[in-house]
Formats: sequence, structure tokens, C-alpha cells
Amino acid sequence: MTALQIRQFMCLNDNFGVLVHDPESGATASIDAPEAGPIEAALAEAGWTLSHILNTHHHGDHTGANLELKARTGCTIAGPAASKIPGIDIELADGDTFDLGGHAARVIATPGHTLDAISYWFESDETLFTGDTLFALGCGRIFEGTPPQMWASLRKLMALPPQTAVYCGHEYSEANSRFALTIEPGNALLVERAEEIVALRARGKPTLPTTIGDELDTNPFLRAGNPETQAQIGMAGADPARVFAEIRKRKDNF
Ligand code: ZN
Ligand code: FE
Repeated sequence: MTALQIRQFMCLNDNFGVLVHDPESGATASIDAPEAGPIEAALAEAGWTLSHILNTHHHGDHTGANLELKARTGCTIAGPAASKIPGIDIELADGDTFDLGGHAARVIATPGHTLDAISYWFESDETLFTGDTLFALGCGRIFEGTPPQMWASLRKLMALPPQTAVYCGHEYSEANSRFALTIEPGNALLVERAEEIVALRARGKPTLPTTIGDELDTNPFLRAGNPETQAQIGMAGADPARVFAEIRKRKDNF
């Protein structure tokens, strides 16, 4: 089986549009649908025909173009079950498998940012789409769930292979890096990565995809169980879920 091809581009202010294409079958999925114009432009540029939208959660900046794209392309919309996804055809739940042209995506329920949030893990392509659950050096704001719930969701993603490429819903890396440095100013890998992010953004380049391994090394939210991280914020030996909640609270007030 040939590898999936992926195109990433900006939509709205800071949302990522992502197209995933299987060259053998021609199947093409848009991960979320923030804005029709840039998605259709990316499709035209690649010469791909939209077959699916895979929604990660119900927020308008991820589903706003669902109906417009469906009307124009006849694409099939998949997303979290029992949710508020416009035009949904296929309802997915934790543990389900979604097939895109023979490439299996495992559905991982990752509630916290919203209760319906799911991530898509294309295991054999070593690629993960996290929506607004995990960001480079950050995680989504907890709108509907609780901190322990979000921590449990992030732990599921942390357990995936470190080489897994991670695509996220927003370009928030630079602001996230400024906050991350307040938590772990002595983390050399973080300092180095923050410099790389600033340099990329100065050239107008995306900072994603990231990898699970890089996030484990540098994302303060994923390091809530790490003794050095805990010591840095005066919570040595504390329950990681509580440490996570404290870091999330600090970020909300940053
Ligand atoms: Zn969202
Ligand atoms: Fe969003």
C-alpha cells in the first residue's frame, strides 16, 4: 500500500486545513472543515477530489464549511457520535476504525476540550490528527470536560509510538512556547525548540506537524508526571492529574 499524502495549509485566522489523500483509490479526506475557500483551493492545486470530511469535534471553526463542501462535492462526513456535527453521515466512537481508501484510522475518544472530541490515528501511516486536544507545546482549553478527563485523554495520545506525526487544529506554537518556557525554563530541548519555532514563524512557515516524541520531551502539559517538571512548579511528588490541572490553570491565566 502506498503511503498517504498530506497537505497542510492555513484557514480562517490560525486554523490548519489538512487534506489526506490515498493515491491508489483517490480517496481524499479533509480533517475538519474550517473554511471552504482554502480547502477547495488546496484540492484544486493537488488535483484531488474530496471524498470525506473527518471532524474532530463540533466547534464552528472545525465544522463551519461542512455543509457547503458537502453540497458542492457530495462528500461523506464522519465525526463523533451523539454530537452536533452538521451533515454527519457516519458516527464514530472510541475504538472504531474508519477506512480511507484502505488506510485504517483508529478513533480515539479524547474528551476535555469538548465532550465529543476524537482523534484519528492512522497507525500504519504513523500519523495522528488531534483537533484541539493536543497542540504543539500545548493542549486545548477545557471548555466542556474536566482537567482529569483531559489528562486521561492526553495520556492515551502519549502512549502512541514516539515517531507518530501529529497534526493539530491550530497554529498556536509560538504563544505556547512562551508559556512552556515559564514552566520549564531549564529544559534544553524546549529552549532549542522554542527558538526553532520563532525562526519558522518569522519566515511564515508552519510549525507542524510535530511528533509524539517531541511533545513528550517539551510539552509541559504532557510532562505533568515528570519529576523535574513537578519540581519546577513546586509540586514534587504530586498526582500528575493535579499537576496537569495546575499547568492548565496557569496557561488559562497567562
Ligand atoms: Zn475547538
Ligand atoms: Fe479550534
